[in-house]
Amino acid sequence: ATIAELIAQAGNRESAMFTEAEGKSLLSAFGIDTPQGVEIAVGQKLPAHLREPLVVKAISATLVHKSDAGGVRVGVSRAELNEVALQMRASLAEFGHELDGLLVEEMVQAGHEIIVGAVRTPGLGWTVMVGLGGVLVEVFEDVAFGLAPLANDQILDMLQELRGMKVLNGARGGVKADIPALVTLISRLAGPEGLLASLPDDVVEIDLNPVIVSDARAVAVDARFVVG
Ligand code: ADP
Ligand code: MG
Repeated sequence: ATIAELIAQAGNRESAMFTEAEGKSLLSAFGIDTPQGVEIAVGQKLPAHLREPLVVKAISATLVHKSDAGGVRVGVSRAELNEVALQMRASLAEFGHELDGLLVEEMVQAGHEIIVGAVRTPGLGWTVMVGLGGVLVEVFEDVAFGLAPLANDQILDMLQELRGMKVLNGARGGVKADIPALVTLISRLAGPEGLLASLPDDVVEIDLNPVIVSDARAVAVDARFVVG
């Protein structure tokens, strides 16, 4: 689908967002790494090429934060898939959401969870935010901001601003994050030729939460595109 078609489809949904799969194919088109994945109906057979362990995610027109309603299960085997889907349907129902299908993905290697976001700001263009995920961003508000288009050295400066940068560099025996891969990912989003620059006005916000950065890769495992 073209970006205009994606926007039209999103506009017809209650949540006015691209589906996660739509968002991720757009990211891939700009060279941003995303997990291998397929959308299937509940009970439908999984294509052979997906490797375990799997991550199963709810597709639902009304659900935004999937985990809040039991809509994400990690470390799932093929044998467990149908049972997990039924549990997910029941869990979503408790929160008033319908399960329309499943996004089944390969589980990416563990790493640091980074948040990369962008908001369209009147008169300024895109404000880009990067932060360390989980507790660091929520409690310590350890985030850095920049205005697109961002050159690679500006992206690196934003990362250096983060108090949690030591953690990314492998402090306390943690994984040493592939910082160049993270810079490349942010550049493909917010650089001069990046995805943001080619988005029409209707798209007002993007959240990649999280990008998982291991010692070998930076992968956007969640993608939210908001249509205004
Ligand atoms: P939510 O809508 O709740 O934000 P996410 O898609 O971000 O759902 O998934 C929740 C969490 O599950 C992520 O923060 C990440 O820790 C983990 N996760 C999601 N997808 C993958 C994946 N493909 N590989 C590994 N971990 C994943
Ligand atoms: Mg998320």
